[in-house]
Amino acid sequence: YHPDAELAPRDVVTRAIWDEMKHGKLQNVFLDVTHLKPGFLKERFPMIYATCLQYGVDITQDQIPVAPSAHYLMGGIKTGLFGETSLPGLWAVGEAACTGVHGANRLASNSLLEGLVFGMRVGQAVGRSSLSPAEGEKVGLPRLSRPAPAERYLLVQKELREKMWNNVGIIRSETSLSEAIARWTSWSWVLKKPGLSRLALETRNMLLASAAMMEAALRRKESIGAHYREDFPSSGTNPSPDHIRLTRTSLRKHFTSI
Ligand SMILES: Cc1cc2nc3c(=O)[nH]c(=O)nc-3n(C[C@H](O)[C@H](O)[C@H](O)COP(=O)(O)OP(=O)(O)OC[C@H]3O[C@@H](n4cnc5c(N)ncnc54)[C@H](O)[C@@H]3O)c2cc1C
Repeated sequence: YHPDAELAPRDVVTRAIWDEMKHGKLQNVFLDVTHLKPGFLKERFPMIYATCLQYGVDITQDQIPVAPSAHYLMGGIKTGLFGETSLPGLWAVGEAACTGVHGANRLASNSLLEGLVFGMRVGQAVGRSSLSPAEGEKVGLPRLSRPAPAERYLLVQKELREKMWNNVGIIRSETSLSEAIARWTSWSWVLKKPGLSRLALETRNMLLASAAMMEAALRRKESIGAHYREDFPSSGTNPSPDHIRLTRTSLRKHFTSI
């Protein structure tokens, strides 16, 4: 798949594993590190060694079953360099924020930067702020009503996760994204009549975040970093702006209930 094999960029390795799993109808592929000395493995990867052992896999002797998973979300709530958002009184930090330090692919250990640098900056900015919660801009929160039975939200969450993984995950296309948007629309009752419970509100938040991801993936008609469009496999053929900026209004074209 790549001259650097498993040391190729993460998106390349992920697609290679995905491809092997799909064609071989496999649940996972295997990582073999048995050529490395047992002492080195135990010392260098103590957590991985201990965790695998709990599941009956001794990485010094056995092959390790591996499969792709969601590791980091590039993008998020747009912030300035001190975590401030366009909403006075709201700061975002960590994986939820889009501070501008990430490109299209995940670089190792960038969460340290997010946590240490931006965590400190946001803490200081919040401490300096004289804004009281009452002064925060009115955000037009919806009227909340009696929530639907919990099972209905749990089912939406389960199916949404599956749809996002299968259609908006490692490999995307206009067909897979349009299919996901159609399915999303069938859950719009969650947004039209927002329920007052943690489960109802979290389901609503999941639907909003997934709508933003689908919209951005649909607009970006190229493949770059972790965003891979099967129908536009090369980068730069139809380059989109560095960052796609979405607002609630701009999402309404495909997601009318937002
Ligand atoms: C398998 C894996 C390996 C990774 N390896 C690395 C690595 O080697 N190096 C690296 O830099 N990054 C790594 N990352 C990414 C890194 O772990 C995350 O980006 C980072 O932990 C995000 O920190 P955070 O504080 O923004 O969010 P989180 O760590 O997700 O913290 C959010 C917190 O909010 C809490 N919460 C959620 N909802 C509510 C609510 N309604 N009310 C109150 N609390 C709530 C959650 O319980 C959680 O404690 C890895 C991620 C994964 C999944």
